[in-house]
Amino acid sequence: MKISDVVVYEVKPRWIFVKVVTDEGYEGWGEMISGTKTETVVSGAKEMGNYLLGRDPFEIERLWQEMYKSFFRGGPINGTIVSGFEMALWDIKGKYYNLPVYEFLGGKARDSIKVYSWIGGDRPDDVAREAKARKDMGFDAIKMNATEELHYIDSYDKVQAVVDRVASIRQALGDGFGIAVDFHGRVHKPMAKVLARALEPYHLMFMEEVVLPENEEAFREVANHVATPLATGERLVSRWQYKNLFTQGAVDIIQPDVALVGGILETKKIVAMAEAFDMAAAPHAPYGPIALAATLQVDVCSPNVFIQEQSLGIHYNKGFDLLDFVQNKEIFQYKDGFVAVPDKPGLGLIIDEDMVKAVSAEGLQWSNPKWRNYDGTMAEW
Ligand SMILES: [Mg+2]
Repeated sequence: MKISDVVVYEVKPRWIFVKVVTDEGYEGWGEMISGTKTETVVSGAKEMGNYLLGRDPFEIERLWQEMYKSFFRGGPINGTIVSGFEMALWDIKGKYYNLPVYEFLGGKARDSIKVYSWIGGDRPDDVAREAKARKDMGFDAIKMNATEELHYIDSYDKVQAVVDRVASIRQALGDGFGIAVDFHGRVHKPMAKVLARALEPYHLMFMEEVVLPENEEAFREVANHVATPLATGERLVSRWQYKNLFTQGAVDIIQPDVALVGGILETKKIVAMAEAFDMAAAPHAPYGPIALAATLQVDVCSPNVFIQEQSLGIHYNKGFDLLDFVQNKEIFQYKDGFVAVPDKPGLGLIIDEDMVKAVSAEGLQWSNPKWRNYDGTMAEW
């Protein structure tokens, strides 16, 4: 079998889908992250797609090595392009052999996958009501953003506001309810310590990206201040960027993104390495249906994945949601806060390509919000 064509679609709300076609009629779907660089990623995908033409789609490891290991390597743009193609290759292989991808990666290690739901958006308000609504839907864990913009040193009123919001959820839903707080890389080291300690009494499931990963030495400092599990990893690209996290030991939960880190097998390798350091995994998946389906394949065969992010109803997905491009919508039906192990071949998805084409024709322009501090300086989003 040979790869005969590659088609790239950019679709709202902020997703890039890629279809890899073979000369025997098998097709695989992958997803890339636009990440405010949609045209760049689409161009790069077309360029790399040309390189794949005529190649054997089953030689996934060899193709991965060749896609990843160019002289200019690394970075999120290359990472998401490699990832999108890699998951499409797995989709082809699974469909050809009529097996879900996880059957090639060790098979089932679990009966179901626990999922959490986002609440609150970027400017969280009345989160207790939202968390209660999610609990009524069956979820027993949520994640929310901690703060709005926060300067290097900022007001303790903002810290207290975060504490009040978290406390309102804890009070409304009790000690057993899982609450994760995403600092989103918005917080600098001086305030990260303050915020982490202020939130510690509320027994969070985890605190995420308490600082940006480029400030990774601060993870140890925050870890020395609080007993709350720390999570990070959604911006890291490949095993090589994870090495220091493992050896430093300050972080407890890794959050690799299958659409950034190099695809399904690379995610599996990273999650397996985390297991060797007694670390948990909660893979990052706030994007579209193909990336989530690919992530679930890793979850099924990875015992240290304890919970999965998913984007149904997430505040980023304006106008479209997770199920809009999927024909077999039952794949993402959650029951009592869990999603069932997928059983269809490949990634398990049946993509509605007519819908993809129609929405793709409208184009995509997505950029993350631009925030400023009280003095006009740029604030991290
Ligand atoms: Mg995050």
